[in-house]
Amino acid sequence: LTSKRLRAIADYVREGSRLADIGSDHALLPVELVGRGTCPSAVAGEVNDGPLEAARRGIAAAGLASSIEARKGDGLEVLRPGEADTVTIAGMGGALIVSILESGRVGGRLEGVSQLVLQPNVGEELVRAWLLEHGWHLAGETILEEDGKVYELLNALRPAEGQAPNEELYGGEPLLPGLSAEEDRKLKLRMGPYLTRRPSEAFALKWSSELRKLRGIERQLERSDTEEAAARKRELAQVIARIEEVLECMP
Ligand code: SAM
Repeated sequence: LTSKRLRAIADYVREGSRLADIGSDHALLPVELVGRGTCPSAVAGEVNDGPLEAARRGIAAAGLASSIEARKGDGLEVLRPGEADTVTIAGMGGALIVSILESGRVGGRLEGVSQLVLQPNVGEELVRAWLLEHGWHLAGETILEEDGKVYELLNALRPAEGQAPNEELYGGEPLLPGLSAEEDRKLKLRMGPYLTRRPSEAFALKWSSELRKLRGIERQLERSDTEEAAARKRELAQVIARIEEVLECMP
């Protein structure tokens, strides 16, 4: 794999997993994982014909047509219940990833799935919130920079029966002194409960660019003098101050 982002996703997938890669495009991830023997078999799901054809060509070119099947369909509907134990969804917005997961959950397609490796391009907090709400344990996070873009990866595992897996992660020590439990959870969902524990260049890069965007919105709001704009501005100013403080407080 030439992409650092895809390599990092592949590294999260456990040995022996039966994989489903949803929105697989060229099927690079299943070809890599089955090719190197991490996964005995895989399904590559695609909703669009162009990428589906690209996936089929990639699988055939790698000589893996007997162990990777490309299927056309929306999200997790390409899966039969119990067929996969690991699902990867990468390179889409967080809102789309959440909608795929939620339809899959409602349709029973996540039964038997014990690992989700997710890489939202934006809206990471939506994905973390969905995982938390549905009792998935966020077991790890990675942030990396490739070709000037910053990517976040979330590795979620289904917890053992009776476990309350995220208590320590979203409860526990607050990111900033004086935050209420709810404010602290919101900030951790936004910035990542693991990512905020260790400084990295990619993290600093991401949040300096996010701060620039937020300050831009703040300036736009200054032009408007409605009560609503004033309330939005106060809220935004607080968010900006908290992000700055987290960056300053990092070890
Ligand atoms: N996963 C690959 C990666 O990370 O490099 C490809 C990412 S590509 C930008 C997103 C792919 O998701 C596109 O090929 C698109 O057709 C597919 N896609 C979008 N919505 C989908 C859905 N609901 N179900 C399946 N595939 C979908």
